[in-house]
Amino acid sequence: MSNITFNSDEFSSRHNSISKQEENLMLKQIGVKSVDELINLTIPDSIRLENDLNLEKPKTENEFLSHFKTLALKNKKYKSYIGTGYYDCFTPNVIKRNILENPGWYTAYTPYQAEIAQGRMEALINYQTMVTDLTGMEISNASLLDEGTAASEAMTMFFRVRKGSKKKAFKFFVSNKIFPQTIELLKTRSEPLGIELVIDELDKFNCGDDYFGALFQYPDNDGNIVDLSSYLEKARSKSIFTCVASDLMSLVLLKSPGEMGADAVVGNSQRFGVPMGYGGPHAAFYATKEEFKRHIPGRIIGVSVDSAGNNAYRMALQTREQHIKRDRATSNICTAQVLLSVMAGMYAVYHGKDGLKKIATKIASLTQLLENGISSLDFNQENKNFFDTLKIKVTSEEKDKIKKVAEKNHLNFRYFETDYIGISLDETTQVSDVLDILNIFSEVSGKSLEINLDNIDDLKHNISANQIRSSEFLSHEVFNKYHTEHEILRYMKRLENKDLSLVHSMISLGSCTMKLNATTEMIPVTWEEMNLHPFVPTDQAQGYSEMINSLNTWLCEITGFSAISFQPNSGAQGEYTGLMVIRAYHLDKGNDNRNIALIPSSAHGTNPASAIMAGMKVVVVACDKHGNIDYDDLKEKCEQHSENLSCLMITYPSTHGVFEDKILEVCNLIHENGGLVYMDGANMNAQVGLTNPKNIGADVCHLNLHKTFCIPHGGGWARNGANRCS
Ligand SMILES: *Cc1c(COP(=O)(O)O)cnc(C)c1O
Repeated sequence: MSNITFNSDEFSSRHNSISKQEENLMLKQIGVKSVDELINLTIPDSIRLENDLNLEKPKTENEFLSHFKTLALKNKKYKSYIGTGYYDCFTPNVIKRNILENPGWYTAYTPYQAEIAQGRMEALINYQTMVTDLTGMEISNASLLDEGTAASEAMTMFFRVRKGSKKKAFKFFVSNKIFPQTIELLKTRSEPLGIELVIDELDKFNCGDDYFGALFQYPDNDGNIVDLSSYLEKARSKSIFTCVASDLMSLVLLKSPGEMGADAVVGNSQRFGVPMGYGGPHAAFYATKEEFKRHIPGRIIGVSVDSAGNNAYRMALQTREQHIKRDRATSNICTAQVLLSVMAGMYAVYHGKDGLKKIATKIASLTQLLENGISSLDFNQENKNFFDTLKIKVTSEEKDKIKKVAEKNHLNFRYFETDYIGISLDETTQVSDVLDILNIFSEVSGKSLEINLDNIDDLKHNISANQIRSSEFLSHEVFNKYHTEHEILRYMKRLENKDLSLVHSMISLGSCTMKLNATTEMIPVTWEEMNLHPFVPTDQAQGYSEMINSLNTWLCEITGFSAISFQPNSGAQGEYTGLMVIRAYHLDKGNDNRNIALIPSSAHGTNPASAIMAGMKVVVVACDKHGNIDYDDLKEKCEQHSENLSCLMITYPSTHGVFEDKILEVCNLIHENGGLVYMDGANMNAQVGLTNPKNIGADVCHLNLHKTFCIPHGGGWARNGANRCS
């Protein structure tokens, strides 16, 4: 062999550090001769793969990076003014380098063990405080997966807590001025629960007895700021719960939804210093009133005072956790977006109230400048009261022309289906950008642009006075101390040093995998070429398409399944997606009675919670003390519910790490009784290359990409794929 290829096992030897000596010691202790023998004894023969995985030849880390760069460069980096919930922003470099790119923060585990997680939990408390301040609510969780999920969780929370005469109310009003992606998610989430969505104009909302809740957006999908007070008040007087989807940056200037009377406020914190990343991951927020505190989805960090009178942080309200409530859990949210909420919270700590006000005021003022220019070119702009977004009336001919010229100039606007163009400015927009936009409208209209920039520094926004915030925010001292680089740097380091992460030791916690991502794998995360708006035309995201397509092929090979969805945002959302696929399968066959999910008592708490969300009924199957399924009990329940069996959810290898011998029999039994098998893939790391979900007889599974593959856990940073067998 020439030594040209000497590097090819570099990755495995660098990341799998066991020495021959250590291996021998381990084997001796266990009492086997080789690793192969150990695996043969561990994984039943009947489910082993016959061939090696057919994957590409491994790359060295340097080859990987240059290959990945080639792909990334296929993405076209235009300036995007598309808005709709995603905005370009400046990630302060001190936060980028010391949190996002720092394994001390991105390898931490979920903060179950308070004494080694005080730093992370303080950062999360900062995030929660920022959210409650800006939204005007009393309590907030430590993040959710995305805005749509947060809005859906508000809907289902209201649905669960409705009482008295409202017990019979099934309608949820949704203003038609909500982001389209949020509406899509609400449609999926409402249907299995029997919730009827009524999507209409605000003024059509009659607050009838058959409504239990309502959702509004502020500023809305068009970018218009509507005073919601009267709507929220009227709903309240009729015992209808209200949620407002909102935008944190606009709330810096605007009267908060809490002051207007909302019961819950949700949204996305992406623009607080987190790159757009073609749609995520970002931390969504969820804030509500104290009265709902036992029903809040996700995790909440609370403060306890110890015997010496010192503050200590801990995960609070554990009673809501799925692990205890099981099929009475209020939601299936487990891993959320901690690393990103830590970043968003630090962004607020770094800028403080005045810094944020400057940023928000600049955005709003430049939007006013844009409006002045647009009107001077005789275009009609629809939004009477706006923060960062204009909605411009055009003819369909103008729309096509503007799109052409804008793309030629590397600018993306939002093109509504009707003849409107949306333009949303952000923290990165400069006066020159506004002029670039205006020049496009000028070119298309044939009118010359007349705009006076003499008094540009006195430029003001025009948000109506009664919508302007008068209440305080970010007055806590943490938001008033760390506004210089050295101070925030030391603060972040101080918090990091309180915590245990993979930079200190292995973390032997949890049933799922904790792995150290290779630094090389993390490097592309912060490349500017990866920072695309999720709604750019697909020809600008060719690099991403190629990456997603390759991943699709590889994960199909690894799971044995035929198709993958990359939509779910976490393992639990993968469960939900998979169960919804199973549900659709039975409905398609005309079996609308098949709604029983068999779930072993040792299953992760998200399993029963997801089944309930998918409209199923949970029947618990007994397990022995090792967490193995009690086959006789399974058989009995299976036969008893044969007529109505939807599926079995099974974790493989089990939560206790065992590859149960009977797995093929178990899956057969389910199939014979007309059900499908859902495999919880949280422990997929134990299967890769040795067996797969298809071989064990499963039909659908999810993969927790932050557990088995190279997404950082980061104190709970999720992004997963759900698989399905077609
Ligand atoms: C982690 C885990 C889940 C939930 O996955 P998230 O990504 O946290 O939503 C489900 N089942 C098992 C066995 C797990 O370990």
